[in-house]
Amino acid sequence: MRVIEQISQMQSWSERERCSGSRIALVPTMGFLHEGHLSLVREARSKGTRLAVSIFVNPAQFAPSEDYAAYPRDLDRDRYLLERESVDVVFCPSVAEMYPERYQTYVDVEEMGAPLCGAGRPGHFRGVATVVAKLFNIVRPHVAVFGQKDFQQLQIIRRLARDLNLDVEIVAHPTVREKDGLALSSRNSYLDPSERQAALCLYRALKVAESLVQRGENNCATILSAVTAEITREPRARVDYAELRDPESLKEVGRIERPTLLALAVWIGKARLIDNIILAPGRN
Ligand code: AMP
Repeated sequence: MRVIEQISQMQSWSERERCSGSRIALVPTMGFLHEGHLSLVREARSKGTRLAVSIFVNPAQFAPSEDYAAYPRDLDRDRYLLERESVDVVFCPSVAEMYPERYQTYVDVEEMGAPLCGAGRPGHFRGVATVVAKLFNIVRPHVAVFGQKDFQQLQIIRRLARDLNLDVEIVAHPTVREKDGLALSSRNSYLDPSERQAALCLYRALKVAESLVQRGENNCATILSAVTAEITREPRARVDYAELRDPESLKEVGRIERPTLLALAVWIGKARLIDNIILAPGRN
C-alpha cells in the first residue's frame, strides 16, 4: 500500500493508472476509521480495479467554535486497517498542501447546503463541497463511495458532480450500525458509557417514526412530535433538529406521500450526532 502526502504524486499515480486502463475507486474520509468506513472501502473495492482512500480532517468544514482541533485522529491505526483491506493508495495530505497560503476558491452548493446541518453549521457544506471537488481533481476517481449516514452530504455531492460535470460515479452505501442500532461515527469516541446509552435515543426515534408511517400516519407534524418526544425522554439529549424533507431536493414536506427523509441531529454531551432514515408511505 502506498501512502502519498503530496498532491503532485497523487496526480501522477492517477494519471499512470488511468493510462493503463485502471478504474479508480475513491473513499474520502476524515480518518479515525471504524467499520462504517471499512464497509465503504469494501464496496469501493468491488466498483474499481484500483482503490484509493483519502484521510484528511478538512478545516474548511469546521467553524472556529467547532471540534476541528479535538477531532479524533490515529493515522497509524488507519494505515494498518487499510493495509488489511488491500487498499492500493492512501492519500493523506497536510493542511498546507491542500490550502496553501492565498488559497481563496470555494464551491458552494447553495440551496441544498442551507437547511438541516447547514443551518446550524453555516459554511460547513461549502467546506465539504470544496474539499471533495479538490479530492476529485487530485485523485481523479471513476467512482467514489459515500455513506448514507451523512445523507445531506451525499446528496450535495451528487448535485456538485452533476452541476460541475465531474465525470465521477457517486455510489451511496447504507449506514452501518452497532448491534443496538447506534450509527457508527468517529464522534462516538466523545461519549462516556452513560452518554453511549443515551445516544440510542436517535435510533429509537427513527424507529418510532418508521412504525407510525408503516401504520399509515402521513402527517409530518404528528410524526415529528412523536420523534421529538422520544428524544426528549432522554434527559442527556438535546435536539438540534428533527426534520422531514424530500430526499432529492431536501425541501420540506408536509405529508408523507412518497419516500421521505427523516433527518436528526442531537447533542449528547459534547457530541453532536446525526442519523437519518428514509420513510416509505404505509398502505392505509
Ligand atoms: P467521515 O470520516 O466521518 O467524514 O466519513 C467518511 C465517509 O464515511 C462518509 O461518506 C460518511 O458518510 C461515511 N460514514 C461514516 N459513518 C458511517 C456509517 N456508520 N455507515 C456508513 N457510512 C459511514
